[in-house]
This record gives sequence, structure tokens and C-alpha cells, in this order.
Amino acid sequence: MEPFEYVAANDEQQAITAGARGAYIAGGTNLVDYMRLEVVQPAAVIDITRLPFTAIEETPGGGVRIGALARNEDVARDPLIVQRYPVLGEAILSGASPQLRNQATTGGNLLQRTRCPYFRDPQVAACNKRQPGSGCAALGGHNRSHAVLGTSTSCIATHPSDQNVALVALGAIVHTRGPGGARAIPIGELYTLPGERPDIETVLRPGELISAVELPALPFARRSHYVKVRDRAAFAFALASAAVALDLDGDHIRDARVALGGVATVPWRSAAAERALIGRRAGPEAFAAAAEAALAGAVTQPSNRFKVELARRTLVRALEEVAR
Ligand code: SF4
Repeated sequence: MEPFEYVAANDEQQAITAGARGAYIAGGTNLVDYMRLEVVQPAAVIDITRLPFTAIEETPGGGVRIGALARNEDVARDPLIVQRYPVLGEAILSGASPQLRNQATTGGNLLQRTRCPYFRDPQVAACNKRQPGSGCAALGGHNRSHAVLGTSTSCIATHPSDQNVALVALGAIVHTRGPGGARAIPIGELYTLPGERPDIETVLRPGELISAVELPALPFARRSHYVKVRDRAAFAFALASAAVALDLDGDHIRDARVALGGVATVPWRSAAAERALIGRRAGPEAFAAAAEAALAGAVTQPSNRFKVELARRTLVRALEEVAR
């Protein structure tokens, strides 16, 4: 590991000032791995664990604000989340191990980086995300776990988080503070598609610090659900996952939220699938139409073609279960 400066920030301004020249660290469950592997070598590591960003609290508008330093396990078990946004608690609990969830934070999970094996192998593999312009070893290589939605000819890496799929379905707002002031970024605008610059993953600016995530009031999210399909029952990343919420009037779908994980380069909300559901009777025909719509733009590789049908079935199962 390369030497780096360690800064223990005592307040927000100190963190932001130092942040422009390094990387923020809180739980460290992702950054430390990548520093050890020499995938990233920040000149400075800014410890933000002293900042007052841990609260999980109701907002005046009836939503919930989750501090960026709230631990994943605490969020998943919080009564406000369990009762009002079960899809988020289920998604978090489907990821990692209890030990990791007790260490990892909400903000760190938002910025979790891909598990593409070539990205993690700087000694051998070409990777445009790690070193722009070097190529992509996954194209033509082992790509069973890679994305089929939102890909480019430069990168097909899968976004790894479960939490963020649920947050996208719920329309969360990401609050930040940085050298240019505070921003409220709709989560659908936080992540950037790989295009020709897969090394740029979000719209965050140098030194910009995530302070909280706000879940807007969404009464029908009480009927929401997360389904994750993976190679083994625990401690594995999704091959396909679906976060769904349905607003039902009898068996009539008034409103719907649909997002997919494990199959896209960013947490993937599907407006097409939502349109295919709204106004229809909750049942096999509408669910199949939503699944078709959600995967309509898929671009596959030789080893990951199975993901298209797997994701369709995962979404249908999530919709069936939430409708029941
Ligand atoms: Fe790198 Fe993306 Fe290619 Fe993986 S898929 S090797 S992260 S460029």
C-alpha cells in the first residue's frame, strides 16, 4: 500500500477542505480493500466518523432522513424503515454479512464500487474504469456476472449494491455538502452511465461529502418488497434483483415502482416497467408485460445471456409476492 496522509476531521468544514485532495472513509469496508489491492491510492484519507451524520429520523413532510453515517444494520432494523419502507430493510439485509453491515455506512454503500474481478486486478488486467483508455478485459473475458443494461463498449461492470436499488425505487434524495455549498440530488441523477468514461461514476464533485439520504413520503411503499437471486444463499452479490412497490385499489394498480439490481451498470429504475403496470389489473399479464419492458434494451455477452430471463423472472416473482 502506498503511503497516504490521514486526516481525522472534527467538523464538516475540515472534512470538506481536506476532501478535495483525497478520499473519505467511514466504515472502510470498500475503500480499504481497494487500497490494499492498489486499485486506488488516495494521497489523503479523511476520516469522517466524528461528524454528526448518524441519525435516522422522520422529516416534517412524513418521509425519513437517514444520516450518511448510519450503519447499514441500524437502518435495516429501524422501525421507521421496517414499517414504511420494507423494501429498503430487505435489500440491506440481503447484502454482505452481519459483521459488514454493522460496519458499513449508508453513504459508503451509496458509493460502493464494482466487484468486476478485472477492476480489482491492477497487476494484470486492462480496465477502463481503473485506468481510462487501457481497455476492458471483461469484454471477451469472464463476464458471467456483468451487466446487460446501461453498458457501453468501454465498460460492462455491474453496480454491486442492494441498498441503492431500493433507494432508486423509492425516489430517494441524496443530500451533500461541498466547496460549492449544499446540494439535494435525486438519486436517479447521482449515478452516471459508463459511456466512454467509466472511471466517472457519479456527479459528485471533488470534496463533495454525502451528509444524508432522504426518503420522500410514499405511503404505498408499505407494500414493497426486494427479491435477490444469487449463486449462494448468503454473502453473495446479486445475479439479478428487483425492488418493487405497488399502490393497489383492489386488484387495480394505481401506481408502481420498479428497480433492478445485479444486471445494470447503475441501480436501474425502469420507468417502462412502471408504465406497463399502472392502470392494469395486478396479475400475470401485467407482470409479464412489466418484465418484458424492463429488459427490452438488454445487451448481452456470451456468458451473461441467462441474466435477461433471470431478471424477468425475478421481477415477476417480486411483483407476485408484493401483490399478495
Ligand atoms: Fe474494467 Fe468495466 Fe471492463 Fe470491468 S467491465 S474490466 S470495470 S472496464
